[in-house]
Formats: sequence, C-alpha cells, structure tokens
Amino acid sequence: MSTTVTQQFTEGLPKAELHLHIEGTLEPELKLKLAQRNHIDIGQTSIAEIKKTYNYHDLASFLAVYYPAMNVLQHEADFYDLAMAYLKRAAANNVRHVEIFFDPQAHTSRGIDFATVINGLYQATVDARALNIDARLIMCFLRDFSKESARQTLAEALHYKDKIIGIGLDSDEHNNPPLKFARQFEDAAAAGLHLTTHCDID
Ligand SMILES: [Zn+2]
Repeated sequence: MSTTVTQQFTEGLPKAELHLHIEGTLEPELKLKLAQRNHIDIGQTSIAEIKKTYNYHDLASFLAVYYPAMNVLQHEADFYDLAMAYLKRAAANNVRHVEIFFDPQAHTSRGIDFATVINGLYQATVDARALNIDARLIMCFLRDFSKESARQTLAEALHYKDKIIGIGLDSDEHNNPPLKFARQFEDAAAAGLHLTTHCDID
C-alpha cells in the first residue's frame, strides 16, 4: 500500500482519543492570540519566538515551559477557544469520542475561578456535537499539589457534576503516588464519578 493510501485509510478510520490533556494542546498561534487579546506579556511576540521556548528533555523541564503558558487563559472564552481549537483538529482526523483531561488547579491557583474553566471547556464540548464528536471532561488533581487543595477542588467540582464524567491525576509523579489522594477518590466515587489515575512517565 502506498503512503497515500495508508494515510487515507488511517485518516478515515473513526477514532477514540483517550489520553488528552487539553492545556497541552495550546498551539503557539492560539497562545499568541490569547496573549494579545488579554494584554499579557509572555516574553515572546512572534510564533517563531514561542516555538524556540519549547526546549525540554524530561517531564520536569517540560512542565517548566508548560505551566507558565497557562497565563494566557484568563476568561471563559479563552478556555472555550482552547478546547474548540483541539476539537476542530480532532474532527478533521475523524475522532468521534474524546475524554479530555483538564487541570483546574493550574488555573484556580493563579486566581481564575473554577466556573470560568469548567464553563468554557464544557460549552466547547456541547458545540462539538455539531462536529460529530462526543467529548467528555475528566478533572485531574495535580499530584504535586496538597491533599487539601485536591479536597477543595473536588468540593467545587461537585457543583458541576453534570459537566464532568470522572476524576483523574496528573503532573509530577515523583513522590506523589495515587495513595496520597485516596480520600478524594473515595469521595468522588461516592458522588457517582468515574475514577482513573494514569502515569505519564513511570
Ligand atoms: Zn497524561
């Protein structure tokens, strides 16, 4: 089979995307657009400059680039645009079902309301139905944040239980085993949420 035929075949297959961190889908183009829209100085003024900052060799150095980029996400419309940009790309690749991880603590810890995050992301999943994608949201606790922070985050999330399907874990795994959040997972399960924890490096 030629490359073209193989590509056409794989592109045409209906797909499910099951490991997707929405904040990680922020492309330089949208990052620059949101920085300008929100008058945020990210230290770069062109897409080429932003691309140069993508210089990492392990998870820790990746996260050192990844988390500062969150600053461009300020308003509900920003979270909507982030999710919709991904969902449009996914639709073009015939993704029909996606379970999207998001990290509310990466935003609430810098003063953004939980509601701003969840409402923007959720509206994009609703509008994505017109693109023939079934998109669901899984809220992750940041492993390197405290148990107390996870408890507060879950308490907020339960006000939006109809907008998320489950709870997960992400970020730096070193010295942050799932056991640390056992209580929060029990509480989430008792509230009827699905549970997942995944490892990105170990
Ligand atoms: Zn992951």
